[in-house]
Amino acid sequence: MRNEEIYKELVAICGEKNVLRDEPLKDHTLVKIGGKADLLVMPETYEAVAQVIRLKEAHQLPFTLLGNGSNVIVLDGGIRGIVMQFKHLARLRVEGNQLIAQGGANIKDASRLACENSLTGLEFACGIPGSIGGAMVMNAGAYGGEVKDVIDHVKVVTQQGELRTLKKEELELGYRTSIISKNKDIVLEAAFALEAGDQAAIKEKMADLTFQRESKQPLEYPSVGSVFKRPPGYFAGKLIQDSGLQGKGVGGAEVSTKHAGFIINKNNATAADYIATIEMVRKKVKETFGVELELEAKIVGEEVK
Ligand SMILES: Cc1cc2nc3c(=O)[nH]c(=O)nc-3n(C[C@H](O)[C@H](O)[C@H](O)COP(=O)(O)OP(=O)(O)OC[C@H]3O[C@@H](n4cnc5c(N)ncnc54)[C@H](O)[C@@H]3O)c2cc1C
Repeated sequence: MRNEEIYKELVAICGEKNVLRDEPLKDHTLVKIGGKADLLVMPETYEAVAQVIRLKEAHQLPFTLLGNGSNVIVLDGGIRGIVMQFKHLARLRVEGNQLIAQGGANIKDASRLACENSLTGLEFACGIPGSIGGAMVMNAGAYGGEVKDVIDHVKVVTQQGELRTLKKEELELGYRTSIISKNKDIVLEAAFALEAGDQAAIKEKMADLTFQRESKQPLEYPSVGSVFKRPPGYFAGKLIQDSGLQGKGVGGAEVSTKHAGFIINKNNATAADYIATIEMVRKKVKETFGVELELEAKIVGEEVK
């Protein structure tokens, strides 16, 4: 099936304004890197999501899901086939002590809404710049809290286009992993089980976590956050710092001088610069400490041909 025909089918499912051709993905990733998507589709309903999945399955089309783009590096050649994003599936609501969030909502906004409703449990997420879907897949966490602690259930579409509800016990949430990432399910909605709390205390905790984050992380530059997973028994940032890599990099990418676990896009970095900096860091840390750093960020797309 040619891109023109796929485009028409996608427009029939999602509407013309929700299907973009040759869309630069550097505008959709927080690190501001990446080539173009052949087709970027932004469905408005769960049924439209399932229909797009069934279309790509029927024609075996390449398919990539993007959340807020806070933990992905899109290569400079861009992404072929269909890229899906949940910009229009981002509603949040509170029912009793449950907060229900659509896959495209920001987890930061969920944290803020919980606070407004004096519900405690999501304070840890107040500075995580990901979507609910991305946070579920990665079991996002910060400052001692993680999604695993508060999730109740999740609604997903499988790669076969079936709608399913998964209970917490079925999610197999581990360090930056879940059954959702293993099965490549698509998160439509997540329900968090929170507890009634004291709003002033919730606010204070969020302010404290925000202060800690702003003082330690280079939030003034685009980045993917922590590039590497925490190796067992070590901290990636400390290993990188002790390898003398801060301030070093390739092209416009640089290991942050504020937090060595971050590689910043300092000056119009390309994905090639960013990846070369990652490889430089991995090599040096392996030589110095014998530790293999594993990527937390995901690399998607293809190199320039
Ligand atoms: C400055 C900064 C600070 C950060 N701090 C933290 C932190 O404290 N803790 C932490 O855990 N992370 C942190 N991150 C990383 C990132 O925010 C999280 O990993 C987040 O969960 C990724 O969500 P996203 O929506 O941006 O996903 P993306 O980066 O867009 O995608 C990540 C993965 O999730 C998948 N995905 C996205 N949406 C869905 C969906 N609806 N269904 C199924 N799969 C989906 C994608 O296919 C991809 O594989 C930080 C990042 C930055 C830039």
